[in-house]
Amino acid sequence: MSADLHCHTCRSDGALSPTDLVALATRSGLDVLAITDHDTLAGLPEARAAIGGHPLHLIAGVELTVRHPGGGFHLLGYFDRDDPDPLLDHLAQIPRQRVERAQKILARLADQGAALDIDRVLERSGETVGRPHIADALVAAGYAPNRRSAFERYLGDRRPAFVSAPGPEPREALEWILRSGGAPVLAHPYTLGLGRARLRATVQSLATAGLVGIEVHRPEHTPDQRRALSEMARHFDLVPCGGSDFHRPDDRDRLGETGTPPLPSDTAERLLQTIAHLESRP
Ligand code: AMP
Ligand code: FE
Ligand code: FE
Ligand code: ZN
Repeated sequence: MSADLHCHTCRSDGALSPTDLVALATRSGLDVLAITDHDTLAGLPEARAAIGGHPLHLIAGVELTVRHPGGGFHLLGYFDRDDPDPLLDHLAQIPRQRVERAQKILARLADQGAALDIDRVLERSGETVGRPHIADALVAAGYAPNRRSAFERYLGDRRPAFVSAPGPEPREALEWILRSGGAPVLAHPYTLGLGRARLRATVQSLATAGLVGIEVHRPEHTPDQRRALSEMARHFDLVPCGGSDFHRPDDRDRLGETGTPPLPSDTAERLLQTIAHLESRP
């Protein structure tokens, strides 16, 4: 069974519609696909409809932006329904907060001599607007040659136009997912920018607060990072998860690509079993 448990659609900052992502997943021979858009589950009904009679198993997911003193991090949530409650109520505020944050970023860009019209940014976005949409608008307006350079020059962490994204704090985010019957999984742990000992301490404290998995299998992880993360998963009894973090079809971003060795075939099943187990808890 081949699975990709981390993918984006145009409902957040991916390029493909949910329909086109499902088509690509079936062409790529995937058996399981989780759609994990940033701060929204809005792509799922369309994806579900697009599957029709195909045997692809679609898992409802989301990638929450979490505020954290040392910089934010991303927390994935996996669900056995497309409308997890009360998560959807919590997420309802975020699109508006993200527009307000985009406006703050645009004010800073104007100070840098790179003025953009908010409408040119919002027309690129789905339910949630993020820095990738602003980066593309900067490129379109000729202020940066490509997206990467837009991040390096303006939008990246600690760059002049950086404004942190709205979102819950770690314990709140875990509660939103757990109370909605979902399985919380730490995304791309190395982007926390912590050394190994501090990362381990953070994973331990999240595990104590209900985390059930961490991403081990990602294309950019080195063998050494995989070993360290696998060991942490074993030690804290977390499901070793992963995915391609697919945003758009290009040379680097390949749906289903999770590196070597690939995502173990029973990972999706383990997550779903965890969800069922969580629900049966009093
Ligand atoms: P936001 O949630 O608006 O802060 O945007 C975060 C998203 O921006 C991530 O999920 C990535 O898709 C993208 N991103 C972050 N850093 C970079 C970078 N240096 N280059 C390109 N994309 C990036
Ligand atoms: Fe993204
Ligand atoms: Fe992420
Ligand atoms: Zn992602």
